[in-house]
Amino acid sequence: LDIRPQPPEKEDKLSVWPYWATKMRTSSSQAEGAEREFQVATLEFIGEEGQLTGVKCCEVDEKRKPIAGTEFVIRADLAFIAIGFAGPAMAGVAAELEGEMKITTDSRRSRNVEANDRDYRTSVDRLYAAGDVRRGQSLVVWAIREGRQAARSIDEALMGTTVLPR
Ligand SMILES: Cc1cc2nc3c(=O)[nH]c(=O)nc-3n(C[C@H](O)[C@H](O)[C@H](O)COP(=O)(O)OP(=O)(O)OC[C@H]3O[C@@H](n4cnc5c(N)ncnc54)[C@H](O)[C@@H]3O)c2cc1C
Repeated sequence: LDIRPQPPEKEDKLSVWPYWATKMRTSSSQAEGAEREFQVATLEFIGEEGQLTGVKCCEVDEKRKPIAGTEFVIRADLAFIAIGFAGPAMAGVAAELEGEMKITTDSRRSRNVEANDRDYRTSVDRLYAAGDVRRGQSLVVWAIREGRQAARSIDEALMGTTVLPR
């Protein structure tokens, strides 16, 4: 399902400039037989006795607003939500800290944990954040770099100085 309209087979750069010109792309897995629907939004999961039975969908207009009377249900017993990075999962440790010790998140829509890239300290004493949870969706090289730098910062805080490996 794609909430956007079906893109043209050939990109039309002039008509959409300065925006990115999209064109219809078909991956090998889609070519194997996936059916695609465009200008369709998911509305809700429906189920019986706590078990998923379907996903309620509808058609949308150019402004992605649902068109009344176009609702339909796709039968499903399992749903994987694959919508890209939607922010750190705040349930669990982070949520507990957020409530009790006021862990600060940034103003981005994904609400990443706020920490600078010098010492990686968060607003909670002795809590450090590095990688995707701090900078948002990114690359593994950044996660490695930040993890190393955060480890150094933690080491300095604990030992007062960094002990470099030989
Ligand atoms: C589908 C996909 C494809 C990608 N492809 C690429 C690519 O080709 N190249 C590239 O450079 N990057 C790619 N990335 C991005 C890259 O994977 C991330 O930037 C990187 O993994 C971030 O590392 P991280 O250590 O910050 O977070 P993560 O790798 O997400 O590690 C966080 C860990 O914390 C654990 N965790 C969460 N909550 C708790 C808790 N309460 N208690 C204990 N553990 C917890 C999680 O289980 C997880 O193991 C891709 C990401 C995705 C999702």
